[in-house]
Amino acid sequence: MTIQLHDTLRGKKVPFEPRKHGEVTMYLCGPTVYNYAHIGNARPAVVFDLLARVLRRHYKLTFVRNITDVDDKINAASVETGKPIDEITEKYIKAYNDDMGALSVQPPDVEPRATQHIGEMIEMIEALIEKGFAYEAEGHVLFDVSSHEQYGELSKRNLREMIAGSRVEVAPYKKAAHDFVLWKPSTPELPGWDSPWGRGRPGWHIECSAMAERHLGETIDIHAGGQDLVFPHHENECAQSSCAHDGAPFARYWLHNGFLSIDHTKMSKSLGNVLLVHDLVKAIPGEVIRLALLSAHYRQPLDWSAETIESACRMLDRLYGAVRGIEVSAEARAAAVVPDALIAALEDDLNTPKALAEFFALARSLNKTKVDGEKESLAAQMYASGELMGLLGNDSEQWFARHVEGDMAADEIEALIEKRNAAKAARDFERADAIRNQLQDAGVSIQDGRDGTTWRRSG
Ligand code: AMP
Ligand code: ZN
Repeated sequence: MTIQLHDTLRGKKVPFEPRKHGEVTMYLCGPTVYNYAHIGNARPAVVFDLLARVLRRHYKLTFVRNITDVDDKINAASVETGKPIDEITEKYIKAYNDDMGALSVQPPDVEPRATQHIGEMIEMIEALIEKGFAYEAEGHVLFDVSSHEQYGELSKRNLREMIAGSRVEVAPYKKAAHDFVLWKPSTPELPGWDSPWGRGRPGWHIECSAMAERHLGETIDIHAGGQDLVFPHHENECAQSSCAHDGAPFARYWLHNGFLSIDHTKMSKSLGNVLLVHDLVKAIPGEVIRLALLSAHYRQPLDWSAETIESACRMLDRLYGAVRGIEVSAEARAAAVVPDALIAALEDDLNTPKALAEFFALARSLNKTKVDGEKESLAAQMYASGELMGLLGNDSEQWFARHVEGDMAADEIEALIEKRNAAKAARDFERADAIRNQLQDAGVSIQDGRDGTTWRRSG
């Protein structure tokens, strides 16, 4: 089956064909490193990590996810905290990678930093000026939006309507309100680099265009990011790159994830409801967060709440519960394949709700079968599916023994089970039942079997 992807430019789902046979290039706009990533920022990282995993099954993929380490928000954070800029950026680059790692996001093939590509940005800006798409004014260089007929195609905006409806105060150095900055002057205390237009720093959009060209060439297969980036960021990246490259298309497929809200409210600093991944991973297993982020289709909105987390925990209980106690040999693991239906769902524009339904169907078959050999091969298929989706990476006993903030700790549970067993041995059934109820109230269910008592968190 051909992979189907929804392309923002064409506005529909289309079959995916890479430009070069057997090879795919993909660019994802990465974080601006002035703070910890919030749970909304984790959504593109997780969903496009899954897309990368799906693509790697068929193609040699080069996946670039950049770091924006020069930006006015970083400068502001430096002023606010009194800390040097590189101390701030280094801290949050490391935190970003650790936090995404906790969500099983695999590192991209290249993680370019904007500050290491200033030369490429200057070259691209020079080319744009030379070709008549950009102009210099008062130490700034601006992209002349009126020079590019296709401007607005990606975000489906009509430039004339935009201009007519615009109430933007036009900066004196701009020819038109919608012309955007490629380069701007820096004061001595701000980060800056020498350029033909004086000491200055790049605009945000040119960073991605230059890094994409440097690492992936003039035309890339897939460009991804959150929905809010369609305009102006991606519209501007697209204009700069195709104009610098004599009309060569910048990206062949544009993919955008929907937004994440918190308890049906927009996440915002002023509302005080910004959830940082850095904090969440201390209380919730990374795998739960990953599954919660994958539980909705990536283009749909996703609401984050206590129920979202709870439901992801229950889903993992079902998956780990199915493979629990089944020995799977290394050979069986190596021979296992992911069920076709699960792959078909993922290859259909990353339909994760359907893929998860297929995963549960597999778990149900495993729960039902009484044939030992079949158990092993189905469990091996479960692990193979988990590996593809970045799930089921822990030992099932560990999963059921996990300690989530507020939960009873595993050693406490085991101590109570021992006491219950002692009570049963002493034929004190009343006390044994009381302990079972105490565990039940703490969300732990127990089961007596031939090999002793096992327990699981039942919620
Ligand atoms: P930023 O650092 O603000 O450029 O954001 C990094 C990535 O996170 C971009 O791809 C954004 O589109 C994405 N993003 C930011 N907020 C949300 C949100 N609430 N839901 C989903 N994606 C988001
Ligand atoms: Zn970008």
